[in-house]
Amino acid sequence: MDMQAKPQDLLIFHLTGRRSGDGLAAIDGLQLRPALLAPYRELAAMRHDFPLVLTEHPDDPEFVRSLSVLVDVVLQDVAPRGIAGERLRRHALQLEHAIRVAVDAATTGTLAELWDQAAAAIGARDGETLEQVLEHAGGALPVDGQVLGCNPAMPAILITHAWRAAHRAKARRFQGELSRLVQKLSDILRAAYSHSQAGRQPQSLRESLGGPHQAAFDFEALSRIVGKGVPRDELPPARRARLEHTLSALEQQTVYDFDDPAAEAYLFDNCAAAAAAFRERLPQIAALAKAVAIAELEVSGRYVEAEHDLFFEAFDARALTAVDLARFPDYMVCIPPDRNEAPENAGLMEMLSSGAPVKVLVQTSDLLEDASIGSGHFAFGVRSARLATAAMGLGGMFVLQSASSNLFALRARIAHGMACREPALFSVFTGVASAAVAADSLPTYLTAAAAMQSRAFPAFSYDAAAGANWAARFSLENNPQSDDDWSVETLSYCDAALQRASEPCAFTYADFVLCDPRHAAHFALVARARWNPQMLPVADWLTLDDSEAAQRVPYVLAVDQKDTLQRVIVDAKLMQATRRCLLLWHRLQEHGGVHDSHAERLLAREKAAWQATQQGQAAVAATAMAPAAPAAAATVAPTDAAAAAHSRDEAWIDTARCPSCNECQLINDRMFGYDERKQAFIKDLAAGTYRQLVEAAESCQVAIIHPGAPRDPKEPGLEELLVRAEPFR
Ligand code: SF4
Repeated sequence: MDMQAKPQDLLIFHLTGRRSGDGLAAIDGLQLRPALLAPYRELAAMRHDFPLVLTEHPDDPEFVRSLSVLVDVVLQDVAPRGIAGERLRRHALQLEHAIRVAVDAATTGTLAELWDQAAAAIGARDGETLEQVLEHAGGALPVDGQVLGCNPAMPAILITHAWRAAHRAKARRFQGELSRLVQKLSDILRAAYSHSQAGRQPQSLRESLGGPHQAAFDFEALSRIVGKGVPRDELPPARRARLEHTLSALEQQTVYDFDDPAAEAYLFDNCAAAAAAFRERLPQIAALAKAVAIAELEVSGRYVEAEHDLFFEAFDARALTAVDLARFPDYMVCIPPDRNEAPENAGLMEMLSSGAPVKVLVQTSDLLEDASIGSGHFAFGVRSARLATAAMGLGGMFVLQSASSNLFALRARIAHGMACREPALFSVFTGVASAAVAADSLPTYLTAAAAMQSRAFPAFSYDAAAGANWAARFSLENNPQSDDDWSVETLSYCDAALQRASEPCAFTYADFVLCDPRHAAHFALVARARWNPQMLPVADWLTLDDSEAAQRVPYVLAVDQKDTLQRVIVDAKLMQATRRCLLLWHRLQEHGGVHDSHAERLLAREKAAWQATQQGQAAVAATAMAPAAPAAAATVAPTDAAAAAHSRDEAWIDTARCPSCNECQLINDRMFGYDERKQAFIKDLAAGTYRQLVEAAESCQVAIIHPGAPRDPKEPGLEELLVRAEPFR
């Protein structure tokens, strides 16, 4: 065996994706999974958030519960403490397991139904008495509702259910408000009538007195006495007309259908239909909002005709404010995963930024589209990940991104997004790689959890109404170890000498890709005999500088179906994608205040100023301390002048406008550098590829990198790169 050739084989695979030598094997069909996922083979046997129970009771503050939590509640209620209750506890957990298995096998039903089915199955096996005991325990369940497993359809069902709960709460509030106003307006009209001539007629007086004592009165005489000097109508005609018209508008409103808790009329599967329905109903909403506003003024005695008549005469849909709209139903749009790019959803961002009362669910079913790697384009998951961040950039809305496995943990945020006044976007990874490989893939729950764990699809929320700065508005939610690049757990295993061993193991983007059999070509299995110090875990390899990295080969730890530990090396394309994933994660971290480059830059600037002052260089210090505002004020003219000085084909940076975010240097710090004012310029165009130039242009937060034309006409993928570069040239 040629021992010298072994490290070479690994490097060749890493650089080219081609296997040579007999120490490397393809992983196709081996059903490898990341080593950290080894303990999760029997997911149904583990108590976790799923399945969920969708609750509908109006007094229940939660719209969803976890089956495990409900079983715990039942056991607390019915199982005797200590050893006496042990048997019941054990059987209840068996029953919970049976329900979990049934739901994973696509059984549907309410909790009460599935509980009884599971109790009957256990009873058939272990005796009728046990069945009765378990059925009795089921009677103590505090809630009932549809049971939902973590499957591809779950996010749409859960989010729609949350929206319905918010809709019902809103409808109840409005119904209460409406009843109050109707009652008060009716009281005003009734009082005016009883004080009028009509109200003092014998018949009216008889009706107002009630039954048993009517015979004791002479209503004719009474009418003559109390009717003297009474006006024909206490209300001026204009006010009476206004009151009657307003009352009728409130009583006959059709904006809310209080008898339809499903609110199907406000549920859509595409943005265009929702926007059209919103526009169509606007006149109705404006009329109702106007009636409510007039009624409020009337019942509080603040309606001043000279002031309000003209205002309400001109009141139409254009006069509706966010406060007005917040009273009325929100439109729920659940876009099916395969329709994200469809023309009818092209107006998504416009709809959200317009402030329309919409809640939109966008589902991503595949973070690793084949074309990404096939074309050499390493922007894995960028499109879907960027949807939520782009929406954040527009401001004025609520944004939540999460993998489906994490939705239960974020239920309070979902409820908040549904109840808030602003438009809301829910961007969810459904946890399905592809129907074509579903049989070979991990369960949906594990795939979704792996996407979040690996930073491929991190969770975050943004609430524009929560405060004036990012610290108040943005949250990295419950990402594991969110201060770090990767989440690291301890991997315990038996080594070759059958001794217990453990080591820290990072769960990286490359681990996530390993779960998807479509991308097996980016990995090669290294025979244990060929493990050598040249191999480095992916997370460690990423920290090396270029020259060191060129000598080493990154690998992930995996297990096969027998749970034997394996090392799988990763090719350069996937490592590029992993680096890109990390870059996007760093950006989110910055929003969340982790490693904030602005704070670090400010610190550096303050330090420089202090040093300058110390040296008595007041002028230099003043320059160092100058805030960005004067430069920003001067940006427009120099920018135009700068643009005029460069051709479309020239690569350049509008350096004067650079706020030093560092993104371009993270992509290639030999190509991009900072000048003495810590603003970016192109240091060496030949030090990188056109692809890096285009990616830097796309990453630049202020769009001041102009990639020009490619230097190397043979660079792969130029056609696609030129399309991407066009907006920046
Ligand atoms: S990405 Fe843009 S803003 Fe950030 S450092 Fe580079 S040029 Fe400046």
